[in-house]
Amino acid sequence: MKSKKKSAQNKRKTSPVKTKIKTRDMSSKEFRKYGCQLIDWIADYIENIEDYPVYPAVKPGDIKKNLPESPPKKGESFKKIFSDFNKIIIPGTTHWNHPKFLAYFNSTCSGPGIFAELLSAALNSNAMIWKTAPSSAELEQVTLNWLRQILGLPENFWGIIYDTASVSTMHAIASAREEISHEIRQKGLTGLKSIPGLRLYCSEQAHSSVEKGAVALGIGLDGVRKIPVDNEYKMIPSELLKAVKEDRESGMLPFCVVATIGTTSTTSVDPVDEIAKICTEEKLWLHVDSAHAGITAVLPEMRTYFKGFDKADSFVFNPHKWMFVPVDLSAFFTRKPDVLKKAFSLVPEYLKTKEDSAVQNYMDYGIQLGRRMRSLKLWFVIRYFGVEGISEIVKEHLRLGKLITFWVDEDPEFERMAPVPFSTICFRLHPPEINDENELNEINERLLDNLNKTGEVFLSHTKLNNRFVIRVSISGLKTEEKHVKEVWKLIKSKSKEILKN
Ligand SMILES: *Cc1c(COP(=O)(O)O)cnc(C)c1O
Repeated sequence: MKSKKKSAQNKRKTSPVKTKIKTRDMSSKEFRKYGCQLIDWIADYIENIEDYPVYPAVKPGDIKKNLPESPPKKGESFKKIFSDFNKIIIPGTTHWNHPKFLAYFNSTCSGPGIFAELLSAALNSNAMIWKTAPSSAELEQVTLNWLRQILGLPENFWGIIYDTASVSTMHAIASAREEISHEIRQKGLTGLKSIPGLRLYCSEQAHSSVEKGAVALGIGLDGVRKIPVDNEYKMIPSELLKAVKEDRESGMLPFCVVATIGTTSTTSVDPVDEIAKICTEEKLWLHVDSAHAGITAVLPEMRTYFKGFDKADSFVFNPHKWMFVPVDLSAFFTRKPDVLKKAFSLVPEYLKTKEDSAVQNYMDYGIQLGRRMRSLKLWFVIRYFGVEGISEIVKEHLRLGKLITFWVDEDPEFERMAPVPFSTICFRLHPPEINDENELNEINERLLDNLNKTGEVFLSHTKLNNRFVIRVSISGLKTEEKHVKEVWKLIKSKSKEILKN
């Protein structure tokens, strides 16, 4: 017995799989120590966010030059890593949580959102299929059903979380393509000689993600037809119908329309109700993109802008934009999840489970297999604020938007450039004595530069009919009336400076 044991030990000693390397994670003592420091750091950051310049004074390459070109050979202390985060990363950060970040469409996070991100990283759930993460899969179903009710979408809308609206819209276009022919999935567009050129319609003001989706799905940029807009930047339905008929006559195959509630430049609202009627008659998939403005449907008085969206085949809204959920989380709804599934379901043997008939495996409804537990932050945020809390914040943002609209409208030096259905205001400096369009473009570009250079505010621009337009968009959780007042004062004083020179 004894000698046998000894020989086994000897054997183990010389085993080719023996190793001396320790591959251990951070100790729980270390984790606790830095965890407390990190939470303190985040609390300070959020408390003192206004002490940071909204927009950092950095030049391209400034951050990279402070980072080593090669990875460290040996592990480094967390203390050192975190100190470099403060020294190198923070100075190159544009602060989206800053109350005067009024550029693009803001997306601010919130306390409950940050906590959920931390916990979801800790669980590291991967909800490829129900079995690999039952809580994640079912929480996604429940929270999206909550969100559906918040938006006022009918019960037959089914939801899934993707990362961004761009990806949601691509899945909408893929479903539309699937609905006209299941053969495309098998043979590919080039293998199907019987299918003529596919046509997708959106307005001239639609987001570039529509075209990107067309690129990814083989529709091609030439397959996207942009419908003209009226003087309020809304799609003209009669022009849509005309285009569809024209295309059918010339042998094209119209299959999908993307309408927008809250376009990216001006937040204009396409007449979805009328567009839906055309889509029903012409048998076209209607996708409604309301990535930014979608949350305003929580307010009954805003529902007029959403008229007809219940007739859409699919709808996208980003809680990571105006619902205080940290980036990224896009909510995609469709009345036809079966079509989406037909387009994407492909189940390899190793992912088949006994529960398949009883559960929803999200991998069947899109490109990605692995998926983060994004639903946790949606759950935390909706529960923490409540539907009433969210409504109140959105209402306040709309009020602040009206305030700026009022200031722009009553000031003879400024000109409003588009209607304001939500809280995004498009305007330009336009003193009565200047009428040259080039000069106006120049002074407004300079004004925006000078404003952003102060680090006190971050605004963005767009071009409408070749005119340079400044945008102020209010959707930040921390943006209050005093901030909006300070920003308007700054706009006024920087404008005076420019006009003096
Ligand atoms: C922001 C936005 C998008 C793109 O959103 P991502 O989530 O960044 O892809 C698309 N459409 C509209 C109307 C948007 O406001």
